[in-house]
Amino acid sequence: MSENIKNEKMEAIVSLAKRRGFIYPGSDIYGGLSGTWDFGPLGVALKRNIKNLWWKMFVEDREDMYGVDAAILMNQKVWKASGHVGTFSDPLVECSECKGRFRADQIDISKCPECNKVGTLSEPRQFNMMFQTHVGPVADESSISYLRPETAQGIFTNYKNIVDNFYPDLPFGVAQQGKAFRNEISPRDFVFRSREFEQMEIEYFVNPENWQESFEEWRKLVWDWCAAIGLPAESVHELEVPEEKRAHYSKRTVDFEFDFPIGREELLGLAYRGSFDLDNIVRESGKNMDYLIKGTNTKFVPHVIEPSFGVERAIMAVLSTAYTEDEVNGEKRIYLKFPENLAPIKYCVSPLLKNKPELVAKAREVYSILKKKHGAVMWDDNGNIGKRYRRQDEIGTPYCVVIDFDSLVNDTVTIRDRDTTEQKLVAIKDL
Ligand code: ATP
Repeated sequence: MSENIKNEKMEAIVSLAKRRGFIYPGSDIYGGLSGTWDFGPLGVALKRNIKNLWWKMFVEDREDMYGVDAAILMNQKVWKASGHVGTFSDPLVECSECKGRFRADQIDISKCPECNKVGTLSEPRQFNMMFQTHVGPVADESSISYLRPETAQGIFTNYKNIVDNFYPDLPFGVAQQGKAFRNEISPRDFVFRSREFEQMEIEYFVNPENWQESFEEWRKLVWDWCAAIGLPAESVHELEVPEEKRAHYSKRTVDFEFDFPIGREELLGLAYRGSFDLDNIVRESGKNMDYLIKGTNTKFVPHVIEPSFGVERAIMAVLSTAYTEDEVNGEKRIYLKFPENLAPIKYCVSPLLKNKPELVAKAREVYSILKKKHGAVMWDDNGNIGKRYRRQDEIGTPYCVVIDFDSLVNDTVTIRDRDTTEQKLVAIKDL
């Protein structure tokens, strides 16, 4: 695929996302705020479906997982201990000509990528990506806090609470979903690199002796997750991160990359973090993080396997997989081929004509039956049937249910399939 076509696809998705109420640029009405995005009614539904599926797969359906929802604002000591205050930074260069700012590791620094002038970029300087704020009315050193740049630390700070309250056997995991904030130098590519985004993270605590076994298990589970959200296996790639690029405490990291329309980029990460984070807490807080194996005197600080998923990148992968163009009756059609479990709307119900009260009444009856059963059901009586189908195709509704004059006599409805556009008659009682 040429660069041009890839970007055309990305543009088409961004435009559809805005036009159909999935994702809007943040603060658009005031000229926007770079790196922020607002989810509209369909985007919220898609995001919830993805997050709920993840929570079901990795928390509810397992015996060894515990959920938490920690505060976004945390004591500044958390971020000193974790190393974020000292080292969570990217190299920043600035152009003396156009004043553009860029990440030095993402561009060719011999010339400015904005104005193309040669030799105008400054020496790189480290720029800390955490958003700083103050807690309470006095803005001084002691009141500094940060919007968390990852959800993981809210898990580590609660590790001891979970062990004391539940005393789980090893291995066990703690999961969290929630907002993370990074003051990215160059937010780009739709929601791919945002300044405010969501993560779904797991810290899986293991006996250091068998971390490899758990790592392999999580590798497989990540593949299961990609399949569950409908990503084709051939578009997902494991990148074994080489030692020189891994964090010093990690003996193994695998990045899972996806063939986005913008190219092959990181979808999520899987890292073995050793006891780095809990050791930091021991050192900085003086608290004991030992785990005592039941019925023995054996104690140690557990090691950790961390699968870290980005919600927006999952959404982008799902949207770009679903986005399809074909031709129906000689006309170009755009539709989102969402897996049924992720589709924001499962059924759309319409009376064939909206000015026939008997059709509307019957359609309302069918609508309430489906609404009770599936929740995510839409009523649509605008425009003609063809237009309604096109609208529903664009938002990825798997089934459109139409009530016509036959429905009044035979108690049947026509169900039209999004992907095949085929229609079939179904008895209302069988819906
Ligand atoms: P990248 O190398 O792309 O900056 P990263 O390695 O810094 O990502 P991690 O710190 O491992 O990312 O974060 C875990 C996950 O959180 C990523 O795999 C990604 O899905 C998501 N993520 C990280 N940064 C962003 C961002 N700025 N916008 C959207 N999602 C993000």
